Amino acid sequence: MAGLTGIRFPGRYIQGPGAMDQLGRFSQDISPSALAIVDPFVDDLVQDQLDFATLRERHGGDCTDAEIARLAKLAQQAGCTQIIGLGGGKVVDTAKAVAEQLDLPTLIVPTIAASDAPCSALAVVYGEDGKVDRDLFLKRGPELVLVDTQMIANAPARFLAAGIGDALATWFEAESCRQSGAVNCLGLTGTGLAYMVARNCFDTISQHGPQAMLDCAADSVTSTLENVIEANILMSCIGFESGGVATAHAIHHGLCELDEVHHALHGEKVAIGVLAGLLMQDRKAEFKQILAFCDVIGLRTKLAHIGIDAPTDDMLSRVARRACRPGEITHNEPFPVTETMVRDALSALA
Ligand SMILES: [Zn+2]
Repeated sequence: MAGLTGIRFPGRYIQGPGAMDQLGRFSQDISPSALAIVDPFVDDLVQDQLDFATLRERHGGDCTDAEIARLAKLAQQAGCTQIIGLGGGKVVDTAKAVAEQLDLPTLIVPTIAASDAPCSALAVVYGEDGKVDRDLFLKRGPELVLVDTQMIANAPARFLAAGIGDALATWFEAESCRQSGAVNCLGLTGTGLAYMVARNCFDTISQHGPQAMLDCAADSVTSTLENVIEANILMSCIGFESGGVATAHAIHHGLCELDEVHHALHGEKVAIGVLAGLLMQDRKAEFKQILAFCDVIGLRTKLAHIGIDAPTDDMLSRVARRACRPGEITHNEPFPVTETMVRDALSALA
């Protein structure tokens, strides 16, 4: 008999140029009193559109326990009934974590499309030392994700490229989980739709990614760019949360052990993980194809490009140990993964 399968979604997802202009209306739809946590980079730009918020507060820089507690206290003191997170990945994750602590709904407005964080029911919490402390799994995803594509087009194209890197992993990882029967973040195998979304994510970025990069560099919102933004933010999230994760993100977590890569974006490290995963399995033709794709997009394909100029045996061993530790997601692959395999694949990308 077949077991249970499952899929999860953000509550609502709305995307288009000028979406920000309707933020107040959508927020009021959810509840009357909002704390808006805003990325300092865009705070001056969005003041007018946030005039409805009960409180507007600049984000402190990292998604740490201290920052979550500070903002949760502010929201509580002001009697807020909704948390808005407006900014990049760390702002978005902090907003979700604050809302979780207070059991409130979240409205997320991503200002870049650099990862699938805006839609997920997951927050990455950092320690005061700047290293990842833990993944915080949340009871529910955002109530609404509002994506203003003009805002994303105006942001540097490097962010879009990183989002394509994150989205690139989605299908490979979901497909590994489908083959191995590994479970998703609900503790279930994905429904058919989960894997279809993951595949569509891959097809969309493959077909439209290169042109979308040009459109983004020209600050031009085209249907091509719209497609890729949807793939980076929505499809990639559904694909990973409900299809499952595996080696590409495990290698990402391993790379994060090294201080040298801290300036590289999440998706830039994940793309290296995808390439290493293909090398590990000796999938030569696909490796060449993905390498060429990354070059066109402007994604980094060598360890030196993400800050590891001269990888020592010790460095690669630390990455491999973290990627392959017991219970780690790399073991969601349909074949055994060893530290040696990870080390050898990364050496080939030096
Ligand atoms: Zn990711």
